[in-house]
Amino acid sequence: MRVKLRNPDRELHVAGPRKVHDVLIELGVDPDTVLVIRQKALITREERLADDDEIEIRPVISGGSNPGMKCKRCRGPAVIEVRRHNASFCQECFEHHVREQVRRAIKSHDMIRPGDRILVAVSGGKDSLALWDVLLELDYRVSGLYLGLGIGEYSDRSGDVTRAFAREREAELIEVDLRADYGFDIPTAGRTGSRSTCAVCGLSKRYVFNRTALEHGFDVVATGHNLDDEAATLLGNTLRWDTEYIARQSPVLPAREDGMVKKVKPLYRLSELETAAYSFLRGIDYVVEECPLVAGNTQLRYKEAMNAIESRSPGTKAQFFMGYLDKAAHLFSSEDRATLTACEECGQPTTGRFCAFCRARAQVLGRTLLAPEDLQTVGELSEEVLPAELYGTADRS
Ligand code: SF4
Ligand SMILES: [Zn+2]
Ligand SMILES: [Zn+2]
Repeated sequence: MRVKLRNPDRELHVAGPRKVHDVLIELGVDPDTVLVIRQKALITREERLADDDEIEIRPVISGGSNPGMKCKRCRGPAVIEVRRHNASFCQECFEHHVREQVRRAIKSHDMIRPGDRILVAVSGGKDSLALWDVLLELDYRVSGLYLGLGIGEYSDRSGDVTRAFAREREAELIEVDLRADYGFDIPTAGRTGSRSTCAVCGLSKRYVFNRTALEHGFDVVATGHNLDDEAATLLGNTLRWDTEYIARQSPVLPAREDGMVKKVKPLYRLSELETAAYSFLRGIDYVVEECPLVAGNTQLRYKEAMNAIESRSPGTKAQFFMGYLDKAAHLFSSEDRATLTACEECGQPTTGRFCAFCRARAQVLGRTLLAPEDLQTVGELSEEVLPAELYGTADRS
């Protein structure tokens, strides 16, 4: 049979007939981290494949349920198994399950108030598009924000799928382009600035999300961070005992009158597997490819470590992160709040004279914001108010 693998794209021939599960094991693929697709439909890991079958193995999506498994909610035939919940669902009930998890997240953390206008930061990936879709389905007042990062074909395709999504649903999409609006792109910034590529990318995203929301009068910025992102970030913060970052790892960062819009993560109760399966089942065309600059992203290592534990002990990720929220978050919280003033260059909130974004941009463009005798003590980047560990390193804008 012909097997198409993604990231990187390649094709293999495997002899049949055999079970999906056996093919995955032979290829060294963890069945819990992929979706198996045949003729545009999800197939289960127990399914038998014929010698002339063609399948696609798509990363970070579940392999589906066992044949004959019944939907937990309606007892119809299941299409997807969520091992963490020890449950299988048919398509309709799975979509209901995803929306229900988002609804619970919003309610339990008071993420969105009646009448709020929400700006979803959309990257073209499965998480942010799934989030936008769910919020539209739940009838929220929601618009999308796409930030063009200038990362070659990857950004071109991300922009295209985001625009197509908005067009199909007649949803408002606001676009900001780093090169057109701010004079630089991420690959150039990574090469010329003193920060790593992902650091300057995360910084730019946080800046543009907050600024755009303020300028357009949005009440809330929503990002597509999922349970895997949050568990991996918490693991990284804990391994370093970065207590300040741990303290701020909340599904909600409240608004501040001095220029910070409320930030929420309504997908934090859903795994990457669930958001990917949701996007697939909803027919959402999303960018499967990874960002070509992802190699420097340290969060991936923590994700791999968490996946290794999760495959042996399903539910660990959820216990780790939800347990932190329920039992430990209050132990780390602190009331300390840096005072924010307007950046002298752009007017956005900062703890110093110039915000981190303006300083990074000036460096990339070869401009000087400060006289040499006027150098402020660095280390005060606006990461203090929008920590990179929360909004920067993950590729989930
Ligand atoms: S991996 Fe994510 S954070 Fe890093 S450059 Fe690519 S999009 Fe930006
Ligand atoms: Zn059902
Ligand atoms: Zn500024």
